[in-house]
Formats: sequence, C-alpha cells, structure tokens
Amino acid sequence: MVSDGTLTPEALAERAKANGVELWSLTDHDEIGGQQRAMAAARAQGMGYLTGAEISVTFLNQTVHIVGLGFDADNEDLRQGLQRTRGGRKERAMEMSDGLAKVGIKNAYEGALTYVGNPELISRTHFARFLVETGVCKETSEVFRKYLTEGKPGYVPHRWANLKDAVRWITDAGGMAVVAHPARYKFTPNEEFALFTEFKGHGGQGVEVVTGSHTAAEFVTYAGTAKEFGLAASRGSDFHSPDESHTELGSLPYLPGGLTPVWELLRDRIQ
Ligand code: AMP
Ligand code: MN
Repeated sequence: MVSDGTLTPEALAERAKANGVELWSLTDHDEIGGQQRAMAAARAQGMGYLTGAEISVTFLNQTVHIVGLGFDADNEDLRQGLQRTRGGRKERAMEMSDGLAKVGIKNAYEGALTYVGNPELISRTHFARFLVETGVCKETSEVFRKYLTEGKPGYVPHRWANLKDAVRWITDAGGMAVVAHPARYKFTPNEEFALFTEFKGHGGQGVEVVTGSHTAAEFVTYAGTAKEFGLAASRGSDFHSPDESHTELGSLPYLPGGLTPVWELLRDRIQ
C-alpha cells in the first residue's frame, strides 16, 4: 500500500493473522513509511513484527532486491539512502510510457499513476495494473512478459542503489540484509557466485530460500546456497495483492531442514 501492494498495512496484518502467521514483516520497495502502522497493526493482531524493506540494487546490470529485516526504522542514513534510491522513478516511468506509446499504448504514465498510492514509488506493477484493467493483457504476468521486461517496449533499466551501500544501510541500522528471491535473476553461475560472495563480504547475512517467486526445486537449490555461503534462510510470500499474487500470506511451505532461520538470529529485534 505504501509502495506497490494494494492492501493497507492493517488489512495485510488482519489477513496474515487469519492465515496463521505468527511473525510478520511488511517489506515495501525502497520505503519504510508504512512501518509504524504495520507494527501497530501486528501488535493489535497479536503477531510478532520485524521492521522490513526491500531495497532495489543494481548488480552486474540487473536489478537485485535486498531485503532488510529488524533495523531501526528511525536510522537517518537508512532513511536518506532509501530516499535517494526512490529518486528517478518518475523520469523512468515517463520513459516507459514513451516506449509503450510507440507500440500503440497511449497515456500509460497517466494510467499507471491512477494506481499509485505514493507517486515517488511508481513501479512496473502499476503499469501492469493499467494494462490489465484496460484489456491490453489478461493478467499481470502477461504484461511483464510482453511489455515490461528486458528487450520489451515498456522496459527501461534504472540504476538503483549499489550492493555495498544497501547492505551497509541495513546493517548499520542494526538489521539483517537478505538476498531476495535469487532464482528470479538471470545471472550465470559465475555471476551468481559473485553476487553472494560480495554480499557476504559487505556483511550480508541471509538468503530468501522459500518464497512465492520460487519453485519447490529452487527451494532446494537456495537451501544449498545458504549452506555454501553460511547464510541464514528466509521465507517470504512476496504477496502484493489478492488478485495478483500466486502465493497467499502465510501459505508457503516451511524452510527445508538444516538451515538457520533469519528470525532465530533476529530474536531480540522482534517487536
Ligand atoms: P520496478 O521496481 O518498477 O522494476 O518493479 C518491480 C515490481 O515488479 C515488483 O513488485 C515485482 O514483484 C514486479 N515484477 C517483476 N517482474 C515480474 C514478473 N515477471 N511478473 C510479475 N511481477 C513482476
Ligand atoms: Mn522483490
């Protein structure tokens, strides 16, 4: 709701609780403006809460998401870093719109804006909603496949934060940095090795193993990565909205055995 989800923090907390979630973290993209509300909502529902954010990073020309958990949401360096990371989304969105106009999709920027809660955070998801609502595509995944991924008319790359800075903002604010949904990136094995090596070198401590963006086979692959790099394992729904997400809050399988869950290392950060 504060970035590109469709539900409010309160509605998410209620939904999570109803689905049996015991410990929850709201991880908006490059934004921590929803943290106070989410924390209060978790408390009202009797769930544990960890502060969260998903920071967009550019690594070897791809966008990688680094989740931060359990940080101090008032930390000034983190706040400023996120603010700088958000900058440039509007210009990028207007370029995306120009690209879509060239293939006959008019006024996509204005259309996408109508779905945006926070104009600083306009994202591809908002364009996808517009293209589905106007009947250009049947569903979000089709929009991404045809229009919003590399080589497609509405795709505009953007330079986000660098890996080192993102990991440092999170860890200096007392939190844990976690590589989000690693199977989503299109790295070669060598590039992926470089990602985890550098991430770990900068002080990163976790990898998302079980997530709505991974297949069961990928759970196994990244359980192996967690062991290989000595990283704690995370589990996250990547839930954006009831209509668009494959995975319902609280419905993912448990972590594979033999891993250290991130929440074990973050026990004293749970609110
Ligand atoms: P942006 O930060 O503008 O690049 O957009 C990122 C958003 O797009 C995130 O919310 C992702 O979950 C979503 N996203 C990225 N790739 C896909 C995809 N193939 N299908 C559906 N959503 C996607
Ligand atoms: Mn993500």
